[in-house]
Amino acid sequence: MSQSATVVATYSRRMSLRLPGDAVVSARIKGKRLKPVCGDRVIAEPLENEDDWLITAIEPRRNELTRPNVRGRVEVLAANVDLLVVVAGVTPRADWFIVDRYLCAAECMRVDAAAIYNKIDLLDAGDAATAELRHYERIGYATALTSAVSGAGIDDVRALVADRTAIIVGQSGVGKSSIINALLGREQQKTSEISDKSREGRHTTVNSAMLDLPGGGRVIDSPGVRDYAPAFDSATDVERGFREIHDHGSECQFHNCRHLREPNCAVKRAVSDGAISERRYESYRRCLRKFL
Ligand code: GDP
Ligand code: ZN
Repeated sequence: MSQSATVVATYSRRMSLRLPGDAVVSARIKGKRLKPVCGDRVIAEPLENEDDWLITAIEPRRNELTRPNVRGRVEVLAANVDLLVVVAGVTPRADWFIVDRYLCAAECMRVDAAAIYNKIDLLDAGDAATAELRHYERIGYATALTSAVSGAGIDDVRALVADRTAIIVGQSGVGKSSIINALLGREQQKTSEISDKSREGRHTTVNSAMLDLPGGGRVIDSPGVRDYAPAFDSATDVERGFREIHDHGSECQFHNCRHLREPNCAVKRAVSDGAISERRYESYRRCLRKFL
C-alpha cells in the first residue's frame, strides 16, 4: 500500500526514506525521469518479497536549492528547506558581498535566512563583523556569533533551527562542517564513509543526508550543498533578493525601477538618507551587473 515518506538520504539512485512513525527504509526509484532529492516528500510502496520500497512519485516541492550542472541543466541539491544559514568567519576573511549573495538566493527560494559569524575564538577587537551582523538584524535576519571550537553560540544556532529543516552554506573553510558536528554534539561520520547496509555492507557513497539534531530540527548536508554558490536568473530575482531595497522600491516613480539611474528613485533616496546601507546597495548593483 502506498505511503507518503520523506527522503532522508540519497546514494545516487538509491534512497533512505523516513516513513510516518519514523521507521527508515531503503528505496529504489520507479523509472528514470523521477529524480527525488533529500528533503523531498514522496509516495512509496513496499516491494513484495523484498526489504526495499519503490518511490513512485514526488509530491510538489515548497522550494528547491538548485545549481546549473556541467551540461547547463538545472540540478536540484535539496528540497523543502525551511532555513538557509549563511556562515562567514574570521578566516577566510569575511566577504560580505558573498553573504549578501547567499541571502539574495534565500529570498529567491522563499526561505528564511540567518547569518552567522564563526571562529569568534579568533576574533580581534575592532573586527567589523559585529556591526555587520547588527545591520543584518536590523533588516530582519537572525544572526549568531559562534565558535565551533569553544562551542560558543552553538546553542543559538540550535535555537534558530528549532524544529525546522536547515541547510548551511558559505565559503569553503568558514567552518560549516565543524558547526554541523557541533550541532550534532558528536563527531559526524564523514559522509562518504557511511555505508549502505542494504547492499551487504558494500560501501556506497552518500550524496546527501538529512541529519537529525538532538533536541529537534534537521540539517540537510551534502558536498553539493556545502559548495553551493548562488546564481540568479533575472534582474527581478536580484531586486526581490535584497529585502530592504525591495521594500523601498514600492515608492519609486517607475514600478519597474532598477534603482540605478532612474529619476525619483526611492531606493537611491534611502541610500543617501542612510536608511539603506551603501554596502548592501553596492552588493545589489554587483549582483545586477550581469543582467544589464
Ligand atoms: P567548511 O569548509 O566550511 O566545512 O569548514 P570546516 O568545518 O572544514 O573548517 C575549516 C577549518 O576551520 C578547519 O581546520 C576547522 O578546524 C577550523 N574551524 C572551524 N570552526 C572553527 C572555529 O570556530 N574556530 C577555529 N579556531 N577554527 C575553526
Ligand atoms: Zn528605484
